[in-house]
Formats: sequence, structure tokens, C-alpha cells
Amino acid sequence: MSTVPQHRLLRTEIPGPRSRELHARKSAAVSAGVGTTLPVYIERAGGGVLVDVDGNQLIDFGSGIAVTSVGNAAPRVVDAVREQVADFTHTCFMVTPYEEYLAVCEALNELTPGTHEKRSALFNSGSEAVENAIKIARHATGRSAVIAFDHAYHGRTNLTMALTAKSMPYKHGFGPFAGDIYRMPMAYPYRWPTGPENCAEEAFAAFVEQVHAQVGESNVAAVIVEPIQGEGGFIVPAPGFLRAVADWCREHGIVFIADEIQSGFCRTGDWFASTHEGVVPDLITTAKGIAGGLPLAAVTGRADLMDAVHAGGLGGTYGGNPVACAAALAAIETMRADDLIGAAKRIESVMMSRLKELAATYDVIGDVRGRGAMIAVELVKGGGSKEPNAALTAAISAACHREGLVTLTAGTFGNVLRFLPPLVIGDDLLNEGLDILSAALEAATSKAAA
Ligand SMILES: *Cc1c(COP(=O)(O)O)cnc(C)c1O
Repeated sequence: MSTVPQHRLLRTEIPGPRSRELHARKSAAVSAGVGTTLPVYIERAGGGVLVDVDGNQLIDFGSGIAVTSVGNAAPRVVDAVREQVADFTHTCFMVTPYEEYLAVCEALNELTPGTHEKRSALFNSGSEAVENAIKIARHATGRSAVIAFDHAYHGRTNLTMALTAKSMPYKHGFGPFAGDIYRMPMAYPYRWPTGPENCAEEAFAAFVEQVHAQVGESNVAAVIVEPIQGEGGFIVPAPGFLRAVADWCREHGIVFIADEIQSGFCRTGDWFASTHEGVVPDLITTAKGIAGGLPLAAVTGRADLMDAVHAGGLGGTYGGNPVACAAALAAIETMRADDLIGAAKRIESVMMSRLKELAATYDVIGDVRGRGAMIAVELVKGGGSKEPNAALTAAISAACHREGLVTLTAGTFGNVLRFLPPLVIGDDLLNEGLDILSAALEAATSKAAA
């Protein structure tokens, strides 16, 4: 277990004086383009708690954006990293390889959906994995067009900005973007014009018609989709939609890529979220939760696609760094040994029942959705209006932060509160976090009514 006490403690206001001092230094040293959600500076973290430089203990409902699923500084990860860093830190797998890289690829090939023959390749960041998945799909098919969806988030590099849907802050002023990328409607049940019951069927019909008319099936290398959309607002596609898209891809020789960078590694109550949709992707991109906080990413998929690329066509200096690989193996072992799939399901049952209770009380909660420990509420004006309520979202989030609960927002319209606790969080912390949220919601709505 973590040596960090697993309870909330506020010693100062949030952020405290020492954090404020550091934050002044940030402005002088760090590019203003690098933002921070909550400027408390962290000194130590473990389990579901972050300890800041003023001695405050905050409840973590963010996991550094779905990264520290096994907990921060998870004991097995710490031991594996210590051991590896003392043995060797880098050789470059493309120069003189090492076994840890192979073991991570073997684990990925085994754990990802489907029993077909697979291969993997390792990279440093999620964006880099997505870039490489597109490279592989284009090379293997000899085609160039790529289809992404409304509300998609795939990263911040040039190609992945082009795939990402939202302009501010991700793309604004950063063009021109990579070409031959097309965007199709997402089956977003809560906002589907004719209602959630028609969503999957109508969204799929629009997809088929628009790809045919605007792109032409035979020009399409790949369709890339998040099985639960992350930054876009934890949108769970209407049931059946992804399955229909994946089947259609197979029919047309198009590579179906599931971007599981946020949804993977037990987060949604299974190893991968594609499984909930009954989909076996041709390629899967992973990162975030893979290595307990160390930077690692991967593309895993059909051996015939992955092996289509000429030797030397994929790689990078640091990709599959041995320390990151050792951390990944320890994180995966932790997920297995401590049943973190079960833990994600337990978090879902606690969160869903409490959030649905809140939704019954507050009509500004338009939708509660998600799976496992990837849960969100979408906030609206209420009183029958589904108009997005970004101001209320920001106010509630700020109130949670002041009380020592780290929450994140998301959504194309900035009106989604999303919860991504570490899977090892205790029930007490989880419930205390939800109490804080509930009080913040009460305060913000009664203020608005007054
Ligand atoms: C975070 C994320 C990315 C980008 O990963 P980085 O490591 O930040 O480059 C890509 N896709 C999804 C779904 C993500 O959540």
C-alpha cells in the first residue's frame, strides 16, 4: 500500500501560499501556452491522494488524465523502475534491443481484443501512437484518406490535430493541418436530434452516405474512433454504432482503428472498451494507463497490417524505453493481481448510483454517462433546456478544487465534469469526493436561483 495517508486534509486555502509562489515562478519560466487546471504543486502522491507543497492532501478524481490507474507511485511500479534504472536506462531498441520491450508487446498482443495473430510497436506518447497507426494503415492499404468523428480527440501533433475535432484550445491558430482527413457525425445519444433510440441507426446511415459521397470507400485507409470519447465529453456511442462501422470497414478493406489511449487498461471495467461494443479492432492505440505514469504508448494489431511496413519504417529514439517498459509490466501485473477490472466496476456502481440520484434532484444535470471509472455528467441550463452550461461547469469544478477535490472538465461545449479516479481509490475517498461534488452543485445552483 501507499505510504501517503488516504484521507483529505486542508491545511491552507487552495492553492496555498507555497503553490502560489511556485506559480509565480511558472509564469516567468514556462511558456504561457502550457496551461494548468489546478495550480497546486504536488510533492508526493499515492493511491487516491495528492499531497501538495503546502501539506494539503487532495482527493484525486483525475489520475493525471487517466494515467495513474494503478495509483500514483504504485509499489510494484516503483520497485520495477528502481531495478531497471540501475541496470540500464537506454540503448535504443532500434540499435541494440532488450527483452522488456518484447514482454510489453507480448502482453499487449495477449490482452487486446481478438485471438488473431498480432504484433505491437512502442512509442512515447499517445499522439505518436496515433500518428503511427495512421502510417501503418496507409502503408498497408496503399490508400490515404482517414475518417474521424465529431467530438474526437486524438492528440496535438500536426496529424493528430487534424484528427481532433475541437478548435479551442487544441487547434486554434496552429494550422494548416495534415490533409485527406474527413469528419463524420458521432452517434451521441444525448444530443441526437431525433432522440437516443434512433441515434445508432441514423448516425450510421449518415456515415455511410457521407463517406460514399465525399470520400469514396476505395480511397479510405482507416477509420479512427475512441470507443468512449475522452476530451469530447465521455460520449458513449449509441449501442450498435461502432459495431456497424467496424463491419462496414471490413467489407471495404478499411482499417478500423480504436483509439483506446484514454479508455484502455481496465479503466472502463474491462481491459479495453472495444469489448463492451463487441468490436475487435484491426489496430488499437494505447498510452495513458499503460505504465503507471511513465511515458509509453503502443500500436497493437493484426500481424498482416503491422508487418506490412518495411524494416526501419517505424520507430524513434526513445520508443519503448526500458524503464517505461519495466513500469508497464509492473502496472499490468498490478491490474491482474489486484483485479482492477473489478475495482473499476465497483467505482462505476458507487458513482452511477450517486450521480443518478443527483440528476433526479438537479435538472441542470442533463446526462450521466460512462463506464467503469470513466464517468461524466453533462451540465445544461435546465428547465427543459439542453443548452450547454459551461459557466456552471466551471463554477462547480472551481468549488471542488477549493475543497481539495481534483476534478477535470471536458466536452466540445466545455459543459462536462468528468471523473477518472485511480482504480485503487478507497470507497471512503470516493464517497467523500462525491459529497464535495454534491455540495458544490447545491451551492452553485442555489446561487444561480437567488
Ligand atoms: C490523451 C489522448 C491522446 C493523446 O495522447 P498524448 O500522450 O497526450 O499525446 C490521444 N487519444 C486519446 C483518446 C487521448 O485521450
